[in-house]
Amino acid sequence: MARHVLSSTTLKRLEQPAPFWIDGKPVRSGRTVSLCNPATGQSFAECHVSTGHDVDQAVAAARAAFVNPDWAGMNAAVRARILWRLAELIDAHAIELAELETLCMGKPIAAAMRMEVPFFAETFRYFAGWCTKISGMSAPLSFPAGDLHGLTLQEPVGVVGMILPWNGPLVIAGWKIAPALATGCTCVIKPAETTPLSLLRFAELAAQAGVPDGVINIVTGSGSEVGSAISRHPGVDKLAFTGSTGTGRALLQDAAASNLKKLSLELGGKSPVLVFDDADLDAAVDGAVDAIFGNSGQVCVAGSRLYLHKSIRDDFVARLTEKANALRIGDPMDEKTQLGPIASQAHLDAIHRRVEEGVAGGAVLLCGGRQADSPGSYYPPTILDVADQSNVLVQDEIFGPVLCVATFESEEEAIALANGTRYGLAASVWTSQIDRAFRVSRAVQCGVFWVNTHNIPDLGTPIGGYGQSGWGRELGHLGLSEYLQSKSVMFKISPAPMSAGRLQ
Ligand code: NDP
Repeated sequence: MARHVLSSTTLKRLEQPAPFWIDGKPVRSGRTVSLCNPATGQSFAECHVSTGHDVDQAVAAARAAFVNPDWAGMNAAVRARILWRLAELIDAHAIELAELETLCMGKPIAAAMRMEVPFFAETFRYFAGWCTKISGMSAPLSFPAGDLHGLTLQEPVGVVGMILPWNGPLVIAGWKIAPALATGCTCVIKPAETTPLSLLRFAELAAQAGVPDGVINIVTGSGSEVGSAISRHPGVDKLAFTGSTGTGRALLQDAAASNLKKLSLELGGKSPVLVFDDADLDAAVDGAVDAIFGNSGQVCVAGSRLYLHKSIRDDFVARLTEKANALRIGDPMDEKTQLGPIASQAHLDAIHRRVEEGVAGGAVLLCGGRQADSPGSYYPPTILDVADQSNVLVQDEIFGPVLCVATFESEEEAIALANGTRYGLAASVWTSQIDRAFRVSRAVQCGVFWVNTHNIPDLGTPIGGYGQSGWGRELGHLGLSEYLQSKSVMFKISPAPMSAGRLQ
């Protein structure tokens, strides 16, 4: 298969610095930042950078749109059709969107085309279905307080600030934007400074689909300047965030110090993969490889801790390292590439520092562990034996292609190991015993649990964290409810007038 050739549309787009997007219009601040292609280490495009003033403008546009009858009064079925149309437009522009993802963050083009962009489109279809199904309830009353009737309304939470990471620029945005639109909220979105281009193109498609001006606003720039201008803004009613636990804490403080805005936080993870001796080992080896090395390990639910039953350890590790070493690492524009570069050299350096720290603390390298000599920020699949569970590689999220392996002898020990970090995002068990799968799924503390697979969540099943992996849920009905607030309405019903029902 050939190297992917950039489309003429993308090449044309890259000729000019990309504008950001406020109130349905492109905005050029005049201050630009260079975007670096991690596959080459070279700058490939420029993007205009927003200021605090632009954030004010974006919030004002989102507030005006939130109360504008064009959006606030829109029939739910019409909103559903707009979301569906948007999904169709995403599909129709899949190549362009995938190319922008690959250029900015190094995701292999095959993965961007076959997974990232279709999943992004499907998120809008899924939430389009919810638009016409958002309803409150008719509430039975507990007090005999006369002739009362109670009901609840489900109302949109308001202007939502969204602060996004670089590892899945479209998919993670979709998990927030689609339910926000389905419920009637409006958005002020900040993509990661290094990966804004695909989302800026999406804003144009949203306008084309019929999303009214001001409903989607996208500001660009750094977290410290533009991100914190959003998180501190008194005009933002809710913040939806995906990123590191440290930034999550900072956002909590900003919310407390400003207007107590509501928060949903999708933070880090250190997800365990537990393989028992009764598992289908061929499937488990493949599953363990996919769990950690997909997107070069830059995935919040990556299976970064592998616990093997002692009796299968040597055979399993031999097969695992063989498969890991056979993964095709290289140019993300090559359609055969399985592992692209790390999203930036700074992130690669941070990964490597952690590996060195882990080795100094007693971890033993089984494969990988050093940057490739080629240009670009490439780090190979890296597997380490880590017996000491206090080792930094076991306790900290590395967010790269780095897997720690340890063994257990009993189910109780496997569960204790799985629960042995401050995180609780995801986990998987590999076993042929249904009883064991069920027991372990109940005992492991996490928001998403897989049996005999370790995968990204489905649109209908919520994802979110136990412990320090976050607050709230994304996707599914619970993901929708993060963008709604409930209002109780009580009616006092007057007694019927004496004349009621009588013929005059
Ligand atoms: P960050 O938490 O630093 O960044 C995520 C987003 O928050 C970015 O848009 C960033 O802006 C913004 N941001 C940073 N600081 C602030 C702030 N003070 N106020 C408001 N916004 C802010 O994550 P990184 O991208 O630096 O990744 C570091 C680690 O985070 C990873 O190694 C991994 O552990 C974890 N992570 C987890 C993800 C997940 O899916 N759960 C996704 C990404 C990261 P900008 O970067 O543009 O300056």
